[in-house]
Amino acid sequence: MNCKYHLHKKALWHCNHCDTPFCIDCCDVEPGMHAPRCLLCRNHMDSYGISDHVEPFWNKLSLFNGYPFQKNALSFLGIFMAIAFVVGIINSFIPVWLINVILKVMLFSVGITYVFSVLTKVARGEFDAPSNDEVALNNSNDMTGKVIGLYLVLIGMGFLITLSAGGMGLLIFGLAIGFFFPAMMINLGMIKDIGAAINPSDLLRTVTGIGWPYLLLVLFVYLIGLGLQFAQNTIYFWLPEFVSYPLIYGALAFFYIMMFSMFGYVVYQYHAELGYGIDAEQIMNNENVQQVEELRKLAHSDVYIQEGRFEDAEAVLYETAKNPQYSSLALERLIKLNMARNNPVATVKAARAYYDQKDLFRHAPKALALYQEIDSFEPRFKPMNANARAVLIGAIRNPKLLPVVEKLTTDMQDKLEQDPALAQALSAEAKFYAEVMNDDDKAIDLLKNLLAKFPHGSHKIEAERLLGICMNMKQSFKPNA
Ligand SMILES: [Zn+2]
Ligand SMILES: [Zn+2]
Repeated sequence: MNCKYHLHKKALWHCNHCDTPFCIDCCDVEPGMHAPRCLLCRNHMDSYGISDHVEPFWNKLSLFNGYPFQKNALSFLGIFMAIAFVVGIINSFIPVWLINVILKVMLFSVGITYVFSVLTKVARGEFDAPSNDEVALNNSNDMTGKVIGLYLVLIGMGFLITLSAGGMGLLIFGLAIGFFFPAMMINLGMIKDIGAAINPSDLLRTVTGIGWPYLLLVLFVYLIGLGLQFAQNTIYFWLPEFVSYPLIYGALAFFYIMMFSMFGYVVYQYHAELGYGIDAEQIMNNENVQQVEELRKLAHSDVYIQEGRFEDAEAVLYETAKNPQYSSLALERLIKLNMARNNPVATVKAARAYYDQKDLFRHAPKALALYQEIDSFEPRFKPMNANARAVLIGAIRNPKLLPVVEKLTTDMQDKLEQDPALAQALSAEAKFYAEVMNDDDKAIDLLKNLLAKFPHGSHKIEAERLLGICMNMKQSFKPNA
């Protein structure tokens, strides 16, 4: 489904009230808002989801591979390994069962808190790794307790299944856990409830929300698990225990950070299907939306124009025109809009603003074409400043447009007497007669007048040069020279 107003852009939001699909450039997003408002009726819109719009997770493996190497993640890994090192030393010197378990739970707790912060942060569409401070702030959800709870429930279930269905039952149960593991972690991380991580209907909803790509996710998790196992075996085999202990935990954290950044991205990609809101602003930041406010406003004006809401279109276009960089685009659109609406007053108002632009020379050919259009619609309009006239006359390269030049120059001497750019306009006129009309006599007249009237200024060198050329031409074409 594409945007109703921008046929080449995918629709991201749908207004139920207007029954209209909008692309992201059409949306009016205010900071911190989950759903943007409809431009036409101001109701909140529904998301189509972005799953067919963003890069899918299987194309984002470099993001996940690189995630543990981000500065914040590395600093977490450093701290985590330091704690593991201390725990390893204490556990080898004080071999008391209870102390060992408590210390290990503490160590795991640090890791669990971090990886779930990774999941929820990436799920919001923020791809930079959380800092230790951020994690400490978010540590109110007691993910450790929930993970341990989940672990105990699964062990209990495995025990009961073994009792009733034997080894075969346990094998099937193990495979089921392997299959549902990503969904369990996603549900636990997002809903923060052990029930949602165990209840088969909750798990199936997550699996079916993601669809067939879920199988790919299971495969990736399996491969990450293999990588982890290989790393741990290698470390264990080759290194002495006091070194291997922190490294084994470091590898564990490293691979889990990778895995949980992938889970987070899956939630981000399928947020609409899974029923999680994402800050609309965040989507806009990630999805190459027109970052330029003015270009988005121009997109809004498309919507208003097509809906016949010309006042709204005018308001948003004049707003855009306040930025000099976009004023010519916005004002041109205003002029054309009002000509199409057959509104001479509004056309002239927009045209005045357009030809008052100081940097009109940047788009001289366009300014000329537009002036000709306006002229055939409302012949009484003329730009009332010498800069615009200089630009327009300077852009004319066709002798057939002599009437346009005449029209622009007739009242110039009286009406624009005080205009500091008058000399520019006059030299543009002389240049036109010399170069386009090949009328040397007229050009010489004009140049002499110009130099008499304005003996100094930036136009002087050019005018004197042109005068010299014209005189020469005249000499060489004299019959008896
Ligand atoms: Zn659009
Ligand atoms: Zn609406």
